[in-house]
Amino acid sequence: MNFEYSDKVVKLQKKLNQFMEEVVFPNEKTYHKQMEQAENRWVSPPIMEEMKGKAKAAGLWNLFLEDPEYGAGLTNLEYAPLCEIMGRSPIAPEVFNCHGPNAPNIEMLVLYGTEEQKEKWLPQLLNGEILSCFSMTEPRVASSDALNIETSIIRDGDQYVINGRKWWSSGAASPNCKFAIVLGKSSTSGERHKQHSMVIVPLDTPGVKIIRTTPVFGYDRAPIGHAEIEFENVRVPVTNILVGEGEGFAIAQGRLGPARIQHCMRSIGTSERALEIICQRSMERVTFGKPLSEQGVVREWIANSRIDIEQARLLVLKAAYMIDKVGNKAAKKEIAMIKVAVPNMSTKVLDRAIQILGGAGVTDDFPIAHMWTHERGLRIYDGPDEVHRATIAKWELKDYL
Ligand SMILES: Cc1cc2nc3c(=O)[nH]c(=O)nc-3n(C[C@H](O)[C@H](O)[C@H](O)COP(=O)(O)OP(=O)(O)OC[C@H]3O[C@@H](n4cnc5c(N)ncnc54)[C@H](O)[C@@H]3O)c2cc1C
Repeated sequence: MNFEYSDKVVKLQKKLNQFMEEVVFPNEKTYHKQMEQAENRWVSPPIMEEMKGKAKAAGLWNLFLEDPEYGAGLTNLEYAPLCEIMGRSPIAPEVFNCHGPNAPNIEMLVLYGTEEQKEKWLPQLLNGEILSCFSMTEPRVASSDALNIETSIIRDGDQYVINGRKWWSSGAASPNCKFAIVLGKSSTSGERHKQHSMVIVPLDTPGVKIIRTTPVFGYDRAPIGHAEIEFENVRVPVTNILVGEGEGFAIAQGRLGPARIQHCMRSIGTSERALEIICQRSMERVTFGKPLSEQGVVREWIANSRIDIEQARLLVLKAAYMIDKVGNKAAKKEIAMIKVAVPNMSTKVLDRAIQILGGAGVTDDFPIAHMWTHERGLRIYDGPDEVHRATIAKWELKDYL
């Protein structure tokens, strides 16, 4: 395994870092101010569109897409250090059109979409003009076991009829979110893993109703947010199905691999920013006659944070290498391992940062509190820690049974 960055990646890293310093970080406050003053919090503020334009012009656009026909043509291993840089600011992924849930949905359409589906949705998604969401989780069933998903997708002539309630559909509250990829049950018989399907549902279809948004630790996460949606006798053409009936879980595996690793790549950058803030602040603040940076316990937190970040980064790079080498399916153990290791690491580093900042750590004067809520959520979404641990243990014990 060779994790040395290629010349191409080093050049992109430099360009991306420069863009972050010159465009993203200086505009974080403007972004939040415009959001506070916005008439509609579910629409991206003007500064976001301005930054997106600059990123596009700089060629820092759709870097996540491995298929060179649609994106930058980088491997996962090449993208990892770049995605990490984007994770340094909560607003950055959208600036570069590399944010969830759009990025994994785009990947899914590129991989599994028909020509008609691609033609209809990809140009606008790739241009950053519209949002999309992924609707799997349901309030009425424990959705960490995806076999429980009960929204029905029933064929009626040349249409599918969809009935069910979803929540945590990230992005759906925005008027700019034009469609949901819905996972539901198209059959109640046969092999259990072959009963679910995925369909594309335009959000302006009659019967689709946004019920409410759910905050995360009090943050509404506007303009992306998380919506609860009712689907009542929603009819879409049969051509809206992805791949075919019963293929829902196979596609979900294809989607969740890249989604999980990209979250983890960004979390490394988030942790790096937290450590940077810890170091700067601990040099400036003096208690009991010496800077915080000279207190033994603070030094221990700084050292442990550096150790934790480096370990996690290596595991993420290994998972990226494995996905490139053997594919999502064969790299499932590495993906599950980083999905547990990384958010546990980042919440620990961010918690140390909160403590070192004192009262300032729980305010929005620093990005730390907001980042912590995001990283804490990551221990639940795309599979809770316990589910990943259970599968890792199952694979580990297989040879002993
Ligand atoms: C910020 C955020 C964004 C999200 N975005 C999306 C999205 O865009 N689209 C979407 O469809 N969903 C999304 N989700 C939903 C998320 O994927 C689910 O919350 C997650 O899969 C868990 O499902 P659940 O909430 O139904 O928990 P449940 O299934 O009820 O599980 C509850 C808890 O039980 C425990 N548990 C479960 N299984 C086991 C086990 N085998 N052993 C031990 N303990 C276990 C875990 O601790 C788990 O947290 C999002 C969630 C959050 C918080």
